Amino acid sequence: MADSIFTRIINRELPSEILYEDEHCIAIKDIAPKAPVHLLIIPRKPIPKLCDASGEDLALLGHLLLAASTVARQVGVEDAFRVIVNNGAGAGQTVFHLHLHLLAGKQFSESQLGF
Ligand code: AMP
Repeated sequence: MADSIFTRIINRELPSEILYEDEHCIAIKDIAPKAPVHLLIIPRKPIPKLCDASGEDLALLGHLLLAASTVARQVGVEDAFRVIVNNGAGAGQTVFHLHLHLLAGKQFSESQLGF
């Protein structure tokens, strides 16, 4: 299967603003932000979607959440941010390489889970 857009960004084959990276993941700015702060936390491992992760990804999934917290602190939004994962086209997933959306900088209503 062809490399995803995100694998190509990780491999520096496509340009992107990388705000954070470590041995397991990178964090970039979303190209079409839905909030004043809209970042993507992306594992280097190209898991297509959350439901494709397995027990062997247990530590990686936890790592992605901790990376989200690290990046939130880095950009100064640690007091109020939202993390979203779209799993499958029916849920709005368009890039089939697992990623966490980190959104902040706007008021999120309690009842509205989307962005
Ligand atoms: P999803 O719809 O959950 O699969 O999210 C994919 C996200 O990737 C969308 O919010 C897109 O705006 C974003 N995106 C697509 N291509 C790029 C890119 N080259 N650089 C940064 N973000 C991108």
